[in-house]
Amino acid sequence: MAATGFFTDTTVCIGCKACEVACKQWNQLPADGNFFSGRSYDNTVHLEATSWRHVAFVEREKKLSGQISGTRPFSWLFMSDVCKHCRRAGCLEACPTGAIVRNEFESVYVQPDVCNGCGYCVVACPFGVINRRDDDGRAWKCTLCYDRQKEGIEPACAKACPTDSILFGEVESLKEHARKRLSELHARGVTEAYLYGMTADDQPGTEGLNAFFLLVDRPEVYNLPPSPGVPTKTTGISWASMALAAAGMTVAALAAARAGGKR
Ligand code: SF4
Ligand code: SF4
Repeated sequence: MAATGFFTDTTVCIGCKACEVACKQWNQLPADGNFFSGRSYDNTVHLEATSWRHVAFVEREKKLSGQISGTRPFSWLFMSDVCKHCRRAGCLEACPTGAIVRNEFESVYVQPDVCNGCGYCVVACPFGVINRRDDDGRAWKCTLCYDRQKEGIEPACAKACPTDSILFGEVESLKEHARKRLSELHARGVTEAYLYGMTADDQPGTEGLNAFFLLVDRPEVYNLPPSPGVPTKTTGISWASMALAAAGMTVAALAAARAGGKR
């Protein structure tokens, strides 16, 4: 079965948060409470075990290339963040119970009945996506609406988005669409636009994302890491270095013992 995913084009997002609400509603996720963060109009702040879509509101004292609206340098950036369903997923590789699997749509899926709440996945996600719920201690995150996909319908967030900022589909056709959209923006003078995490070449640390983004500023501006890496990618190198160090110490100890014996 072909891999499915999301292409989130942040340049058409209007920050309505319909995607957040639709996700909460469909997945019956509990409310996070009403509070004022004091940071812009965003009261969800980040992805959580109970918030599987989060729309970041970024206020910049800078205009977009070609922007004619506004009397002073200012622009809003909105970006609907989600689990990236990484091609190489830190959460999946770190899970000791096999609770996290890659399903038939190549999405990274947590089986709640197998999760024992150890939290290894939480520290292994380079994006800070997956988390444990306070009420049951287990790890939760976006399922890419597995239940809806099984019925042949698109995920709730993509369905609810009024501007098609969130597009759902087969990853390969999403990539084609994303490339076209990028060229269109570049032709219109929005030269700062780029694709984040679309391929393994763009993001070797994760080998590419099944949920990738079109951005117009540095990743950090959207609270995304500039070069995320799955921690287990370097495990082989660490073991090789330790083996080398151990071999070196053995050789040194043998040489010292031999030198001591000759005296
Ligand atoms: S973004 Fe994090 S939680 Fe989502 S698949 Fe990648 S490593 Fe796992
Ligand atoms: S529903 Fe679409 S336009 Fe509204 S906040 Fe989400 S991504 Fe943006």
